[in-house]
Amino acid sequence: PDRCEADSGRCAGATGIAGRTLPAPRIDALLAAMTLEEKIGQLTMLTAGLTVTGPGGVPDYVPAVRAGRIGSMLNLHGRERIREIQRIAVEETRLRVPLIFGLDVLHGYRTIFPVPLAEAAAFDPALWERTARAAAVEAAADGLTLTFAPMLDVARDPRWGRIVESPGEDTWLAARFAAAKVRGFQGPDPAAADSLAATAKHLAGYGAVTAGREYAPIDLSERAFREVYLPPFRAAVAAGVAAIMPAFVALAGRPMSADADLLRGLVRAGWGFEGVIVSDYGAIAELVTMGLAQDLAEAAALALDAGVDIDMMSDAYPSGLPVALERGRVSMAQIDAAVRRVLELKQRLGLFDDPYREGGAAVSRAQRRAHRALARDAARRSIVLLSNRDGLLPLRGTARRLAVIGPLANARRDMLGPWSAAGLIGGAVTLFEGLRDAFPESGIAQACGVEIDSGDRSGIPAALDVARAADVVVLCLGEAWWMSGEGASRARPDLPGCQADLARAVLDLDRPVVVLLSSGRPLLVPWLLERAHAVVATWFLGSEAGNAVADVLSGRWNPTGRLPVSWPVEVGQVPIFYAQLPTGRPPDPASRYSSKYLDMPTEPLFPFGHGLAYTRFGLRNLHVSPGELRQGERCAVEVEVSNDGPAQGEETVLLFVHAPAAGLSRPVLELKGVAKAVLLPGERKSVRFTLTTDDLAFVGQDFTPRLVPGDYELLVGPAADRKRLLRTGLRVPA
Ligand code: BGC
Repeated sequence: PDRCEADSGRCAGATGIAGRTLPAPRIDALLAAMTLEEKIGQLTMLTAGLTVTGPGGVPDYVPAVRAGRIGSMLNLHGRERIREIQRIAVEETRLRVPLIFGLDVLHGYRTIFPVPLAEAAAFDPALWERTARAAAVEAAADGLTLTFAPMLDVARDPRWGRIVESPGEDTWLAARFAAAKVRGFQGPDPAAADSLAATAKHLAGYGAVTAGREYAPIDLSERAFREVYLPPFRAAVAAGVAAIMPAFVALAGRPMSADADLLRGLVRAGWGFEGVIVSDYGAIAELVTMGLAQDLAEAAALALDAGVDIDMMSDAYPSGLPVALERGRVSMAQIDAAVRRVLELKQRLGLFDDPYREGGAAVSRAQRRAHRALARDAARRSIVLLSNRDGLLPLRGTARRLAVIGPLANARRDMLGPWSAAGLIGGAVTLFEGLRDAFPESGIAQACGVEIDSGDRSGIPAALDVARAADVVVLCLGEAWWMSGEGASRARPDLPGCQADLARAVLDLDRPVVVLLSSGRPLLVPWLLERAHAVVATWFLGSEAGNAVADVLSGRWNPTGRLPVSWPVEVGQVPIFYAQLPTGRPPDPASRYSSKYLDMPTEPLFPFGHGLAYTRFGLRNLHVSPGELRQGERCAVEVEVSNDGPAQGEETVLLFVHAPAAGLSRPVLELKGVAKAVLLPGERKSVRFTLTTDDLAFVGQDFTPRLVPGDYELLVGPAADRKRLLRTGLRVPA
């Protein structure tokens, strides 16, 4: 029960901590001793999730492990079980090669942190690193050695369910996220017993599936592919990521798992990636369904040739590689090279010397408590206050009687979101529980009204009675945890079921209403945002969801979260993102022939970076020095931030660049820096960004980065909204 039904049987794994040279003799000797079947075994990853039980109740993977036909497993749960299977590998197989155990540890293992899209809203690499470290410590204590994370797909389409797993729409931010997560999961020493090998996935462009439909092909310009979608992966490689997982999808007809130019050419030769490439779940077999290969042998040949070392759950390598070898489609040298990379990873992880990772045996009580505290901090930093009319929030003493209404009010499982690993559902704090504890003086009542995804309206009248008796209504609406994540595209990403009817009925009562939106994506409910007094994006916040939300509603925490994605008005605007290229005809309400819609605004409802606080911040005195930059130089950009409101708060300041055209038009804004300042009421502070010529360089027509001379615009402010940004200039002389 601790791993969710819809996810079950899914998780992946493989490893390699790139960039370290190793003593080779043991690996050479092993390779020399291996039969073809044993070699292919090292390239085969099996799930424990689809287990069929054989004679005597033995799961079907056990004989395969014992025969050396498996090199790594995914989805095996529990320290004892993992130890037992590892024992079989290192004691009962002919060559005693330890297994790698992988799982999708995306946002926590037992302690669940906010889903990645939510955590991205913290704009805080140090936090991202700390939560990944805590997750690694907990997962490694169960004997896991590999996580299929971080997920680094830039996502600009809320129809796509996996936007929840992504760091959002911005490439620069996603690259920071990548490096922080890799550092956090892998820790300072990859061989340490509390380290997890990380997997940068899904290389690349998966976020651009056609019409937001899961697994659909993509068709991107080479420029967008390289400039928007690849850089987070490059950042992961630079941070030493152990493994890379190519995406399921095909770009312009070319599936990533068979793309030798991309994997062997760009990633290995170009970026110097020395780790392991692990396929996505069943992806090699999909080369057959996509029409690239006639059979599994050909699919295996294409993938191996492209540089994929490990076959996760396709049966292409085990059954297809021997045939491909016979046909002369692959060579033994290619197989050996892949096996060597897998063995090197095992060696770097220290598995040959400590297959059970003894050192990571237990997570102490104190550590668990610290992880809970971290989960609460991460959760409140992920919350985005979207609107707050008449300063209804924070509630403080005003709410004598509170009604907590809606299907997500007391929905424990949903708080964890998708990919919740071994997260303990019972340990999650619901929104109602958090609010009840935060407002002990208030009378607090709760009613669901409706279910998330049913058409039954019969509970609405009772919920309205509860609402009528309250001074303030907290409406808890949104998605069930399984409505985002893999296989969860939604053509109409609004409130599922008849939640809109409940919301309208509650709003008609004319009470102050705070809406809490729990979801894995922006939900497109413009009418609700217009009518409710306050709306808070609470995403899926993890184990401490209720406490974190209560911290914000009570004012114990002055909200700091900022949208990592543009929040559209309606689905017709999608894909929507701030880093647009300029059009020849900027939107002009007075002109019919400008770039706009007749029936809705061009702008999002809330821009990237939007997020309110219980105070007001001002920005002034933007200054850059020096004002001219030559190749290899850097400059300092400073701006003064003031807290002009009533409460202490933390402001996040974004630095954008607009580069001069150089035979190409450039995005109207590109994020290049994030700075934060904590300020008392009335206080002023300077924040400073450092900008290098690398930050300014962009890929030219030939796809190599270069520094273009000319006048750059620097724009600084809270969000990607040109009207609210201060500007200055920077010159790169010819
Ligand atoms: C997903 C991957 C995941 C794998 C293993 C696949 O379906 O696309 O992200 O790592 O399953 O669970």
